[in-house]
Amino acid sequence: MPVSGDLFIGSQRVKKSETFFVSSPATGEKLQPGFSVAGPEEIERACNLAWTAFHTYRELDPESRARFLETAADQIMALGDELLERAHAETALPIARLTGERARTVGQLRLFATELRNGGWMGIRIDPAMPDRKPLPRPDLRLRKIPLGPVVVFGASNFPLAFSVAGGDTAAALAAGCPVIVKGHSAHPGTSDLVAQAMTEAVKICKLPEGVFSLLNGNSRALGAGLVAHPHVKAVGFTGSRAGGLALVKIANERPEPIPVYAEMSSINPVVLLPGALAARAEEIGKGFVASLTMGVGQFCTNPGLVLALEGPDLEKFIASASAALGQVAPATMLTPGIHSAYEQGVEKLANHSRVKLLARGAEGTGMHCGRGALFSIAAEDVLKHPEVTEEVFGASSLIVRCANEKELLDTLEHLEGQLTATLHLTDADLPLASRLLPTLERKAGRVLANGWPTGVEVTHAMVHGGPFPATSDSRSTSVGTLAIERFLRPVCYQDFPDALLPAPLRQDATKGPHRYDGAYRTE
Ligand code: NAP
Repeated sequence: MPVSGDLFIGSQRVKKSETFFVSSPATGEKLQPGFSVAGPEEIERACNLAWTAFHTYRELDPESRARFLETAADQIMALGDELLERAHAETALPIARLTGERARTVGQLRLFATELRNGGWMGIRIDPAMPDRKPLPRPDLRLRKIPLGPVVVFGASNFPLAFSVAGGDTAAALAAGCPVIVKGHSAHPGTSDLVAQAMTEAVKICKLPEGVFSLLNGNSRALGAGLVAHPHVKAVGFTGSRAGGLALVKIANERPEPIPVYAEMSSINPVVLLPGALAARAEEIGKGFVASLTMGVGQFCTNPGLVLALEGPDLEKFIASASAALGQVAPATMLTPGIHSAYEQGVEKLANHSRVKLLARGAEGTGMHCGRGALFSIAAEDVLKHPEVTEEVFGASSLIVRCANEKELLDTLEHLEGQLTATLHLTDADLPLASRLLPTLERKAGRVLANGWPTGVEVTHAMVHGGPFPATSDSRSTSVGTLAIERFLRPVCYQDFPDALLPAPLRQDATKGPHRYDGAYRTE
C-alpha cells in the first residue's frame, strides 16, 4: 500500500497544493511523497465529522466497539513490512524495535477490546431507592460513565506506532466511545499515513460513521492549536516537549469551554541506589543502568536521567562499571535533527556547569545526528543550589548525585519535580531506609519500582504511566494500560428514572459484569 501524502478526513482523502517533505535522519535523503498540509478548512471538516459521528458512535454497544478495535489491529498487521520500513526510514529506529512496537500497538488495541467486553470500565453503581428511609426517603440513583466527545491525539516523535496514530491514547479514546482526530507528528508523516489507511479501512469494514477517525498532517503550530481550540473537541492527549504540552494546556484553558489536556511532558526518572544493594552488586547495577540509559538512544520518557546514592567506595565501583559500559556503547542516529541538537545543547550545558563533573562518554561514531551517551556527577548540596541541572536532557544523558548522608538524599528527592517513575535498588538490609524514602517517592512519581529499570512499560491493567507535573499535566491518569480509558469518560447519575428511559446497562436486573450495588462490589 503506497504512502499517499493525503489528509484523512473521515472516509475522504484530501490533497492540498501546500505540501511538506521529511528527510531520513540517518542519511539526509529526502523521502517521497510530499504531504498535504491541513489548514483551517480541514480542521473544521474533521471536527464537524467527528462531532456528527460521536452521537452514533457513543451509543454503539461495547461488543461492536471491541470488534472495531480488533479490526484496526488486523488492518495494521496487514500493512506488513512496508509499515516497518517506512517507520525505520523516518525515525532511524531499528526494525527489531519497530517490530516490537507494532506488536505493542496492536496488543493495546486488542487489550482495550477485552476491557470493553469486561464491562467494569462503565463504573456502574446502583443505589436502590429507600422509600421508607426516615426522615426522608432515598431516591433511586444509578451511575454510569459516558464518553466526553471527540478527542484530539498528538502523535509522539519517539513512538511512531505505540504513541502515535493508533497508539495508546487513540485506543483508549475509541474504546471509551470518543471519535479521534490525530494531529500527526511532522517527523513521521508516512508512518502515520499508512496507519491511517488501516484505521479508515477498519471504520469502513465495521460500517461505522466516517468521522470516527481522521488524520491531519501539517508542520505548523497553527494546526495543533486550531484543533485544540475547536469547540467540538472535548479532550486532548499529547506526548512531547514541556513547551509544547504547556502551550496546548493554555489554549485549552482559554477556550470559552475549557477541556482536559492529558499532556505527558518531561521526566528524569530518579533511580536511588541504596547502600546494601551497592555493597552486594555495584558492578551489575552499573551495567544494567547503562543498558537502560542507552536503550533507543535514550529517547524514552522513562529514561533514567538521575541516579542518587550515598558516597563511598561502593558508589565508586558503580561509577567505574557504568563508565566502562557506557564507553562501549556506539552512538546511534536520533529521531530528528531537532531532537539531536536539543540533546547536544543539554549535554554541553551540563559539561560546562561549574558544579558538574563529566564522568564518561559513549563511544565515538560518525553517523548523522548521532546521540553519544554522557554520564555526569554532582554533589547533592549543589543540586539544591542549582536545580537547573535536573532539567530533562532527552537522550542518553544521566547525572549521578553524590549524597553525603541520608538527609541529603531525602532533601534532593524532595526538591525534584514530578516524575513518571522513581526506582529503588535495595536488599533486605535497605528496607528501613527504603520505607523512609517511599512516602516522598510516592508523592513524586506515577510508578515506583524496586530492583528494576524504568524503561520498558508494560501495557496492563495495573500500569500507571503518568505522574505529577511536569511529568504530566494531570496526575490523576495514565497514558498506558486499560486505566487510560478513564481519561475520556465522565460519570452521569440517573435519579428516579423510569426503567424504559434508563440506558440498557442500568435497567432493573439488566446490569451485567462488575458493579457496585448499594455500596457492595458485585461481579455479576
Ligand atoms: P514537541 O515539539 O512538543 O511536538 C509534539 C507535537 O506537538 C508535534 O505534533 C508538534 O507539532 C506539536 N506542538 C508542539 N508545540 C506546539 C505548539 N506550541 N502548538 C501546537 N502544536 C505544538 O515534541 P517532539 O517534536 O516530539 O520532541 C521535541 C522534544 O520533546 C524533545 O527534544 C524532548 O525534549 C521532548 N520529548 C519528550 C517526550 C517524553 O515522553 N517526555 C517524548 C518525545 C519528546 P509539529 O509536528 O508541527 O512539530
